[in-house]
Formats: sequence, structure tokens, C-alpha cells
Amino acid sequence: MSRFWSQVVRDLTPYVPGEQPKIANLIKLNTNENPYPPSPKALAAIQAELGDDAARLRLYPDPNADLLKQAVARRYGATPDQVFVGNGSDEVLAHAFQALLKHDAPILFPDISYSFYPVYCGLYGVDYRTVPLADDFSIDPADYCPSGGLPSGRGQPNGGIIFPNPNAPTGRLLALDAIADIARANPDSVVVVDEAYIDFGGTTAIPLTRRFDNVLVVHTLSKSRSLAGLRVGYAIGHPALIEALERVKNSFNSYPLDRLAIVGAVAAIEDDDWFAACCGKVVTTRDALTADLASLGFEVLPSAANFIFARHPQRDAAELAKALRERSIIVRHFKLPRIEQFLRITVGTDVECQALVAELRAILA
Ligand SMILES: *Cc1c(COP(=O)(O)O)cnc(C)c1O
Repeated sequence: MSRFWSQVVRDLTPYVPGEQPKIANLIKLNTNENPYPPSPKALAAIQAELGDDAARLRLYPDPNADLLKQAVARRYGATPDQVFVGNGSDEVLAHAFQALLKHDAPILFPDISYSFYPVYCGLYGVDYRTVPLADDFSIDPADYCPSGGLPSGRGQPNGGIIFPNPNAPTGRLLALDAIADIARANPDSVVVVDEAYIDFGGTTAIPLTRRFDNVLVVHTLSKSRSLAGLRVGYAIGHPALIEALERVKNSFNSYPLDRLAIVGAVAAIEDDDWFAACCGKVVTTRDALTADLASLGFEVLPSAANFIFARHPQRDAAELAKALRERSIIVRHFKLPRIEQFLRITVGTDVECQALVAELRAILA
């Protein structure tokens, strides 16, 4: 605290990302990075952009990243004016809070969800209400549908709705028709679907953006495209929603994506074979890990993501996380109501997951 701090800064509770330890030989299963490298074509594109003398880095990048918008639009059957790109999906989400979710009524999101959402609310002065997940940690769409929408709707008038799908940190997937119900029941609110993990087993809501002018779908290259270090995310929605995001972006930073990020992201998005192979391996390993943990007595929530959320009925989660850490394996533990007995474990390679299971077996013995 300092007398130089503005009132806004005094009141902030910043997000704390998972640790990026600088320790060698660690098995890092705490921040949902992909265990496989990015597409070699992405790396080649970045090398080519650097060139021999890096002369191009002398020049500003394209402020609109048109090549990337075109690549995303081609991949999803959209038009470039339905695409917004940003410096990681966290930045895209931040702009969405300011551009589309800040209204008089509070916004809604699940009580157990991405813990950055309340942080953005604090930063931008957005009022919010959390909606409890069901006991099985699923989202009930009726909770987001004011009566008049779904017949069973218990929801309340709101300034917007946001949730990850699959949800984080639970990994549970909400069906597309439930998302359509929520969008239909809230025609005057934007519904932001944060699909950071959709490529590991879900069906994207992008087609809904053509039927509903209030649905914005947000993606990242950090997880399924193995490019967390490049910082690229995007949103797809009605051009009026995209224009709102552009207005905020162009009042904040003209060049959120650098030259290397633009060319690397284009090549990664165009390399479908690499993408499908990496996602497929993660899904196979996830299912094996789920079975192995169940055999050790863990309860594992059904996951459509590249992580699993699990608890052991007899063992304290914080102690398990600590014991794993002493054995050079890090997983994520959230000291939060309802989930403090859970561990969120990123799906690594088969070898990493087998090491995790072996250490857990030893710890539990
Ligand atoms: C990882 C994650 C993001 C952020 O991704 P970046 O593109 O790396 O900023 C957004 N939402 C959820 C739910 C995530 O888990």
C-alpha cells in the first residue's frame, strides 16, 4: 500500500496464476498447458518472420492482425468481421467485461468457475452474482433463464452471463442445446462462452453465434494448440459484438499481437493434423488417468478438458498436493469453498501421468 495508489488499485484483488517454478526435472501438471510441442509449421513461420536479421521486428505489426482473423474465419466458417483477436484469451475476456458485460444489472457466472471473472469485475466495476453449481458440479441452464425464457427458469434479470465450457476447474461439459436455451432466454444480455478447453471433447458453440446475436465464443491457442507462451486468443460473434471489442482494444493498445504471434498463430490454426493428433493423445491419456485414479479410490468428475478434477474421500487435498510437490510433481489446489478437497490435475504425457499415479499410490500406502 502506498499513498500513490489510486482507489481502484487499493481495492483490487488480483488473479494469482498457477506457479511457473524454475526448478529442473519437475512434472508440471498445474496450469493446463499442453504436454506436446506446438505445430512445427508454427515454429517455422516464426523463424521465417524473424528472418536472418530480424529486420522486420523494426516495424510495427498489423494493428488488425488481418491474416489471423482471416485464418480463424476460414477455420470456423465465419467472416473476418465476426472475429476479434487478442493477447491471450484473458485479454479478450477482459475487453468483453468492459465492452459487453458492464451494465446496470449484475452479471451471472457459476460459483465454481474461472477465478479471473471476479477479478475483471473488480477491475472494471462490474456487479456480479454467482450461481451455485448443482451438487454434481453441473450447470443447470434453468438457473440462467429468467421465467419467460425456459418454463422452469429460476434465473434473474442480468447484465450478462459468462461461463467456461467445459467449466474450469471442474472439467464438466454443458450441452449445446442448453447454451442455446440460455441465449434464447436472455435476448438482451450477452452470453460469453469461454471455450478454453472445448477441443478436448466438447462441441463448440460457434454455430450458435450465427443464430443468436448475443452469443460470444472465446477461444485460446494456449491449451489445445500448445502455444501458451505466444499469448493468442480470439472471439467469434455477431459483428456488432466484435465492433464493441475493437472499440475497447483501439482505446487500449493498438498492437496487442506482435509479428511473431500473428504468423505463429496463423500456421498453428492451419495445421489441423498436428492439432487433432495432440488433442487425441491428451484425451486418451486423460481417460487412462481417470481410470487409474479411480482405482486408487479417487472420485473423478467426468472431464471434457485437458485436466481432471478429483478428490480422495479419505485424504486431505492440500496435504496430497504438498506430498506430491515434495516428490517434484505439482498440481493445482484451490483453497475455496466446496472444492477445497479437490485437486486439479493437468493431463500430461503418459509417462508423466504414470509417474503421478505411482507417487500417489506410494503416498496413499
Ligand atoms: C487458460 C484459460 C484462459 C486463458 O487463456 P489465455 O489465452 O492463455 O489467456 C481463459 N479461460 C479459461 C477458463 C482458462 O482456463
